[in-house]
Amino acid sequence: MAIEPRLRVLPPEARPVGWYVSPGWNDHSVLTYFLGEGGNVTGVVVSPAMSERQKALRQAARTQGAQVVLDPHVMEQAFRGGNARGSIQRLPWARTSPATPSELAGHNGAELIQMLVSAIAEAGADAVISPTHYLSKGIRDPWWPVDLVLALRLRRELDRQGFRDVRIFHRLAVPAALLRDDPSQLSNMAARIRRLPIDALWLRTHPSGVAHSGPFVFKGLLQGCSALHAIGVPLVFERGGPVGVALTAFGVAGGIESAICGGESFDVNALRQLPDPSVEGFGPPIRVFVPELMSYVPKDEAYALLGNRLMNARYGCRGRCCAKSGPEGSVRDSRRHFLYRFSDQLEKLSHVPEHRRPQAIISEVNGAVRGLVQARTVAPSLGGSQERLTVLGHSLDAALAARMVGHYSLPDFDYRRQARRTREGALRPHALG
Ligand SMILES: [Zn+2]
Repeated sequence: MAIEPRLRVLPPEARPVGWYVSPGWNDHSVLTYFLGEGGNVTGVVVSPAMSERQKALRQAARTQGAQVVLDPHVMEQAFRGGNARGSIQRLPWARTSPATPSELAGHNGAELIQMLVSAIAEAGADAVISPTHYLSKGIRDPWWPVDLVLALRLRRELDRQGFRDVRIFHRLAVPAALLRDDPSQLSNMAARIRRLPIDALWLRTHPSGVAHSGPFVFKGLLQGCSALHAIGVPLVFERGGPVGVALTAFGVAGGIESAICGGESFDVNALRQLPDPSVEGFGPPIRVFVPELMSYVPKDEAYALLGNRLMNARYGCRGRCCAKSGPEGSVRDSRRHFLYRFSDQLEKLSHVPEHRRPQAIISEVNGAVRGLVQARTVAPSLGGSQERLTVLGHSLDAALAARMVGHYSLPDFDYRRQARRTREGALRPHALG
């Protein structure tokens, strides 16, 4: 089944792959550094809970022409575990108990929107992720009607307070099975969201990531994303890792969102579990990104890999990030290394003519799988990665054989330049073909 292009088709050179970075709770300084050196990210996702700490980051983003996107973290607040997290408790709209649909449908919802607009103003944000929730029951979920009203109220309030140029990126968080098994429900959703005054759709599916990328699942993602093109705004896939990159290569997503050295999957059950107080506040263990293998290795295995002459020759970083420090620098400053190398990978994909991108990502995945056969003998934890990428490779082959390739509209990352050109400010949203 070929996917019909619904969005405005731009010349291939004008359609690079966009990338939004979520710095996470400890990474904002690394990202500031990266932006300051000219990193090519579309935007950075900031948190109102870290307003003071992320000041320099927001400034760097502005200087670099990257969008500052505010995530209100409202989705997390609806779960007992999510709401109890320290990071969520530091939000200006922190709550003692999880949010419920009936509560946010009324006055409390209006109050939340007020606080949100204040936070947007304070952060000088260019865009905000709409305060939506995880829809476990899809269109029958009690959050569904509440979220639509909240998005409308947010646009109205932004306009009323003079923030007409602040964009709304509408987050749709749904079970992956819904995308796959219920096309009529999805088109109902798309028809309803289409009437919302939004500028992009941020799609998050549960479960996501390379561990869930079998042919059936990937086909469902391709079909689901292309059904959502009916909304007529750019589509950004959140928390997909290599699967997200593949979705952009297959032309059904215009961009992806990723955290630094992590956040390449989403499992809603993690939000249901109460945080472990003994590990709260500590960052995840250090992992080093190996782009040629599309994988990460833990710190100790990274040293073993670099200590092996053959592996060092193949996978030791010779990128700009580690030019001065040598490959060992990628372990010492693993987050900076990730930002550069992941960015390079997306840039490379952007330079491949669109019709050849599916084949390009397939070659990349197959190359990684071949490399992993040997690399796992030195770094055994790569075994899992080899298995998962093998599955992804099969899925991509099957999708290409079925000609499931689409055309996306790119995220509007060059809107600042547009804003300077037009008197009305930024153009929005992207036109339909
Ligand atoms: Zn490096």
